Amino acid sequence: MDKYTVAIIGGGVAGLSCALTLASAKDKGDWAYGRRYIVIDSGASDLLKAKLFNVPGVALGESGKDVLEQIRGQINHYGCVDFVGGEVKGVAGTRGDFSIRLRDDGDIKAEIVVIATGYKSFEIDINGLKVVPHKHTSKPDRVMIETDEYSMAADGIYIAGTLSGVSSMFATAAGSGVQSACSILSTFSGKPTIVHDKV
Ligand SMILES: Cc1cc2nc3c(=O)[nH]c(=O)nc-3n(C[C@H](O)[C@H](O)[C@H](O)COP(=O)(O)OP(=O)(O)OC[C@H]3O[C@@H](n4cnc5c(N)ncnc54)[C@H](O)[C@@H]3O)c2cc1C
Repeated sequence: MDKYTVAIIGGGVAGLSCALTLASAKDKGDWAYGRRYIVIDSGASDLLKAKLFNVPGVALGESGKDVLEQIRGQINHYGCVDFVGGEVKGVAGTRGDFSIRLRDDGDIKAEIVVIATGYKSFEIDINGLKVVPHKHTSKPDRVMIETDEYSMAADGIYIAGTLSGVSSMFATAAGSGVQSACSILSTFSGKPTIVHDKV
């Protein structure tokens, strides 16, 4: 793939929810047609340790690991998202022309970047982001990145999940990823955009 439309760094619930919403817009208009997305993930989601009893719509006692697998299956239904394992070390460039550097496997090119790497730390080499202490946790040393109302931290760079400052719950992280996706889709279509299907 020469260049992806959006590269999502972090494949936990926020990153996958963002990818699912982006992918689900595939047939919603010319503005969505032919776009390709990629999720880059180092495989350490907090959800892998969770057994879930309070996530709306998820069966009582379901493992976080199984839910992540189910979301990846939903995404694959649309056929426009690639997945790659690996750790991102740096992001360079500007909107339309980002280069995402992996620890082991070279670079990935993308027009837009979503960062959803969780709130435990932020070690990606990238300019212009404001990393501050997380505002909605009692746990020490958690971080977040400040964004505008469209979840954008710099031109073409969106933040999702706990890294965006939401409380560490499945639904808030998922919702944050979906909001980033809607903000991005709105830039494609030129108007506020959501993705709905009808019975
Ligand atoms: C033990 C435990 C139990 C929990 N139980 C519940 C519960 O019952 N109900 C509930 O609602 N919530 C629960 N949670 C909270 C929930 O798991 C988190 O809120 C949610 O996982 C946060 O999603 P996220 O996408 O922001 O981060 P994460 O899910 O942590 O995902 C971040 C992803 O980014 C990847 N990543 C990080 N850095 C890089 C990098 N440089 N390059 C590439 N990838 C990177 C990581 O590998 C990870 O996969 C629990 C959490 C824990 C730890």
